[in-house]
Amino acid sequence: MARRKATAEELRRLNKAREFKRKRNMLKAAGAGPDKGEDVCAICDDGGDLTCCEGCCQRAFHLDNKHNCIKTLGLTIEEAKNIIEKEDFVCKNCQYKQHQCFVCGSLGSSDDTSSQPEVFQCEHDDCARFYHPKCVAQMLYPDNHHSQELFELQVAAGERFSCPMHECIVCMEVENKNDKSMQFAVCRRCPTVYHRKCLPSDILFKPKKGPKGAMRRAWKNMLPGRILIFCMKHEIVRKLQTPARNHIIFPEANVLKTFQAAPMEQDMPEQKEAPDHSLPVQIHSPPPPAASDQNQCCCSSPFDSFAPSSLFMHPHPGSCGWLDD
Ligand SMILES: [Zn+2]
Ligand SMILES: [Zn+2]
Ligand SMILES: [Zn+2]
Ligand SMILES: [Zn+2]
Ligand SMILES: [Zn+2]
Ligand SMILES: [Zn+2]
Ligand SMILES: [Zn+2]
Repeated sequence: MARRKATAEELRRLNKAREFKRKRNMLKAAGAGPDKGEDVCAICDDGGDLTCCEGCCQRAFHLDNKHNCIKTLGLTIEEAKNIIEKEDFVCKNCQYKQHQCFVCGSLGSSDDTSSQPEVFQCEHDDCARFYHPKCVAQMLYPDNHHSQELFELQVAAGERFSCPMHECIVCMEVENKNDKSMQFAVCRRCPTVYHRKCLPSDILFKPKKGPKGAMRRAWKNMLPGRILIFCMKHEIVRKLQTPARNHIIFPEANVLKTFQAAPMEQDMPEQKEAPDHSLPVQIHSPPPPAASDQNQCCCSSPFDSFAPSSLFMHPHPGSCGWLDD
């Protein structure tokens, strides 16, 4: 397929990504770079004693017996202890090269040695999120059908890409950890990122009083130099203080509904659950992916790009065949 000239918007993004990388490398050289692995547990979003996956996902998990997370991992207390001692934890997603898309949540092959990898990892090595080409393209170019198609093809062809976690969804500017107002507030459940100054007022740092009061959605001290949030797309489960914890899928089973009322059908020794997990919690299915024209051609809608309209000429009105010539 012939490559089109990049649009002005695409060049702008590319330059921003390069600038981001340059700045980050400078920070790393100065010894201020991020350590390997995330600072909160991939399952319960809490900090504490975490074990990092030695695979490529960079996620951290609670393998201790104080949290309920080993259940979700399908490990017994003994198995978890052994893994902690050996320091060789590799999660099932990394073991089987099956990772979840951070937009739609479904599993896909991330095996880039196979003929058909389905999900691709963001180029920022401290990000490590995986995406379906279509899902990430829709998030980055919601209003520009043709940039979307081009980007999807590039990602699917294995080209390096920068995911939506690296610019503010409101002002499109990058992160600056040294300027408090320009610190990032990052959603734990989807690729939504705001500057502190751009954070919507309904993402609260303190819950509103009363049994029906709005729940807290933002935490200042969980991530170094960043704010941890659950954005408005995710319903907060009152008893958990987080969205439902059915968001992690491992390759062997489907969603492991750890917090279901029904008893688990596995030979695990009886164990006391952490207090906030002790009551059965209704499992909410994840919200549908952002509204999109996934299966519809929107060629007739106005373009929002700065690029000359000649770049968007169609061989036939309303067709998408322009990429093939
Ligand atoms: Zn945990
Ligand atoms: Zn992993
Ligand atoms: Zn997806
Ligand atoms: Zn990323
Ligand atoms: Zn912003
Ligand atoms: Zn979110
Ligand atoms: Zn089209």
